[in-house]
Amino acid sequence: MKIIKKSKEIHDLFKSFNHIGFVPTMGNLHKGHVSLIKQSLKENKNTIVSIFVNPKQFNNKKDLKKYPKSQNSDIKVCKQLGVNYLFIPNYNEVYEWKTKKYKYPKIVNFMEHQFRKGHFKGVLMVIEKLLNIIPAKRIYLGEKDYQQLTIIKDFIKINKIKSSVVACKTVRDRGGLALSSRNKFLKTINKNTAARVYKLIKEYKKNYKNKKFGLKNLMKWFEKNKLKFDYIENINIKKFKREGKVTKNSRIFIAYYLNNIRLIDNI
Ligand code: AMP
Repeated sequence: MKIIKKSKEIHDLFKSFNHIGFVPTMGNLHKGHVSLIKQSLKENKNTIVSIFVNPKQFNNKKDLKKYPKSQNSDIKVCKQLGVNYLFIPNYNEVYEWKTKKYKYPKIVNFMEHQFRKGHFKGVLMVIEKLLNIIPAKRIYLGEKDYQQLTIIKDFIKINKIKSSVVACKTVRDRGGLALSSRNKFLKTINKNTAARVYKLIKEYKKNYKNKKFGLKNLMKWFEKNKLKFDYIENINIKKFKREGKVTKNSRIFIAYYLNNIRLIDNI
């Protein structure tokens, strides 16, 4: 595995390769990231993983400061998996890279866009740079961040970028909690609550199949259990719109807090 820190050096690889799979991450790799990397390794001759904690997508400075970092173990994980190139740029390597002007897609003002002002603009800023530095054939993204996935797909489409997006299923722990770098800050009791939330949402979906969804009842459960949440939405993932009924395309999107840690999921 080759570790590359310079944008030009990684960009120049594309003169000799055209079958590259790309997995962008912010590091602190867990089994969710690993599943994306494994899929890329399976489908491409060469896989590039990037580790870059993008300050522009943090709407909260404190959150950025305490974002967990574990570069040495991330390097080990990538080496063991058989990753070909690990790209670890600094801020200037990413943001001083010149690109043409890209169009940004319209983003519906709900969920993460409503509650984390400027977050997706920051995501798109880094994606336009990374996809220009690394014009990979396929880019691997997790369904865990479904709204982000949808926005990046739109961005690629409207700008006619040649990379195709491979959406990868959310990896969860035994109780159902979606793996996330921020789970480090959760206590066992929080993980047990997260498992209850996962089970509860699953049950709701089953009970309300093809019926009007009882979002209010679900919200009441959170209030009764003194759990703070930003939103709970029933979204048709094909149209990426709110819907009133639970259909086969419904997912319940949620952002809630445990131990002051903000968790997002779609179930
Ligand atoms: P991050 O390092 O959090 O920016 O995530 C990098 C990529 O991994 C994104 O495409 C995420 O959606 C994806 N990812 C994060 N957590 C999971 C998970 N539990 N299962 C699958 N993919 C994930």
